Amino acid sequence: MFAADWQFISAAPTIEVLPPMQGVEVALAGRSNVGKSSLVNALTGRKALARTSVTPGRTQELIFFRAQPELTLVDMPGYGFAKAPKDKVEAWTRTIRAYLRGRVNLGRVFVLIDARHGIKPVDEEILDLLDKAAVSYAIVLTKIDQVKPTAQPQVLAEAQEKIRRRAAAYPEIFPTSSNTGEGFPELRAAIARLVSE
Ligand code: GDP
Repeated sequence: MFAADWQFISAAPTIEVLPPMQGVEVALAGRSNVGKSSLVNALTGRKALARTSVTPGRTQELIFFRAQPELTLVDMPGYGFAKAPKDKVEAWTRTIRAYLRGRVNLGRVFVLIDARHGIKPVDEEILDLLDKAAVSYAIVLTKIDQVKPTAQPQVLAEAQEKIRRRAAAYPEIFPTSSNTGEGFPELRAAIARLVSE
């Protein structure tokens, strides 16, 4: 599935212009600079599929990629950049909320969290949106190569503790590194399971 040739489908700045629903959709969300573009590139095995952002928070669109009819990958706009004006943040929240509520083929949202920083209040806000929209999600800890192996159990335990009290169904946590490829077999398998469900 992931070896297939991934195609860029479209970039939607608003929900009025989303592409037609097709197959299972899997979306990736995360703060600016969390490593989302790097993860999309590593996941699909393509170097320049997602733009690795130069300016944090530049990508304000939902970007759709497809490998085959059954699976669409959606790169959601990064959130939590400090300098964003209030009206921009509100517009972002409206778009994301509408997307989450209306996209019936959305199988799962993977929320990316920088393993060095853990789950922050701004991440809790998107988890709230997901809980309210009753969307299934999982946590991807990015840049795990930046955390010493001896400290990794603690990072995982803290993330587990933060999500334990919020979600009815206990979300999975995937420690990953786009640099070393750690965690990608597990992440790919989880996505493949969604398609075959
Ligand atoms: P985005 O803003 O979420 O799309 O983040 P990017 O993919 O542009 O990555 C932000 C920064 O983190 C870049 O300097 C990347 O090289 C770095 N980065 C991304 N993934 C990893 C990773 O797995 N390990 C390490 N050490 N750095 C990473």
